[in-house]
Amino acid sequence: MNTMTRKLATIREIEEIKPIPEADKICAYRVGGWWVVDTINKYDVNDLAIYCEVDSWIPHELAPFLSKGQEPREYNGVKGERLRTVRLRGQLSQGLLLPSTILNELGLWPLVGDPVDHNLTNQLNIQKWEPPIPSQLQGTMRGNFPHFIPKTDQERCQNLRKDIFDTHKDDVYEVTTKLDGSSMTVYVKDGEVHVCSRNIDLIETEGNTFWNTAREQNIIDTLLELSVEKGEEYAIQGELIGEGIQGNPEKLTGHKFYLFDIYSITVGRYLKADERYSILDTLNMNGASIEHVPIVEQGLRVAQAYDSIDELLEFAEGPSLNPQTKREGLVFKSWESDFSFKAISNSYLLKTKF
Ligand code: ATP
Ligand code: MN
Repeated sequence: MNTMTRKLATIREIEEIKPIPEADKICAYRVGGWWVVDTINKYDVNDLAIYCEVDSWIPHELAPFLSKGQEPREYNGVKGERLRTVRLRGQLSQGLLLPSTILNELGLWPLVGDPVDHNLTNQLNIQKWEPPIPSQLQGTMRGNFPHFIPKTDQERCQNLRKDIFDTHKDDVYEVTTKLDGSSMTVYVKDGEVHVCSRNIDLIETEGNTFWNTAREQNIIDTLLELSVEKGEEYAIQGELIGEGIQGNPEKLTGHKFYLFDIYSITVGRYLKADERYSILDTLNMNGASIEHVPIVEQGLRVAQAYDSIDELLEFAEGPSLNPQTKREGLVFKSWESDFSFKAISNSYLLKTKF
């Protein structure tokens, strides 16, 4: 799990070039686990280029062609366009490549140190595009998200090729379904229970879906009771899904919190999978009704079962909690360490609702 802000634009090496059948003007370039379609012969293998990931908000001046001759859109006061996942002539394309020569033109060259992986997000004024927050989720701020609990986050497998297949090649994983909702954390501190959205600690107000759901599933009282019983303070983290959230892909009536992690505030670490299941059982025996996110595989040796990022991405495709719904993807958590990552379904990205 990492809490770093996402590196949306980095300098990368072109690692592979693939022709696209029946296309003579475009081809696919690979950087890490990402494929990007662009003009043929624009880059060679081993060339350095700037790679911008999907969900980057690209300022208009950097890539005016993205607006296709239309007036550019605006996000947080910056005119530009958002990078999405697309399919061009049947080939998946994610993100944008820009020639490294633009750094010269912008006065950013030469860089200090090794250019590979150099983070250009701020220098290029690239922001992460986020969908607007529905009012039922906004709530009233009690405080910042507590500094003593990690924020939930998962890095994309496309950026972790070496880590998955080299550093962690012997790791065994728990694989769960990634639910598409809103991150929610409930924690106990000094005898008081707090409810947080992805980024803020919330006051209990009428109509706030995070608090309402925590009450409905009897999380507040049981979590407090548990911490008294064990003499240990916990934070439980999960995904809030349902009506009005991310287009409610699971077609749920009402709202529901699905747990995916438990953090011991007292000890300062995430519980291992079996400890997590056992605490969850205790909460439910004490009167809570909390479900775990669906477990797709337990004890999977990822680097042995799959040979490439492309294969892992194939595995990410499949049904969700609602068997009629295509899942957003999978989250992989190593048993051995805190290493974890996500594989997002490409067909899910292609049919995005926003
Ligand atoms: P980005 O990584 O693009 O910045 P993001 O930070 O909003 O996007 P997501 O793509 O939503 O993150 O992926 C991480 C989030 O996935 C977590 O913060 C968590 O709320 C959510 N999530 C849903 N299901 C699971 C699961 N089974 N295990 C772990 N996290 C999950
Ligand atoms: Mn993230």
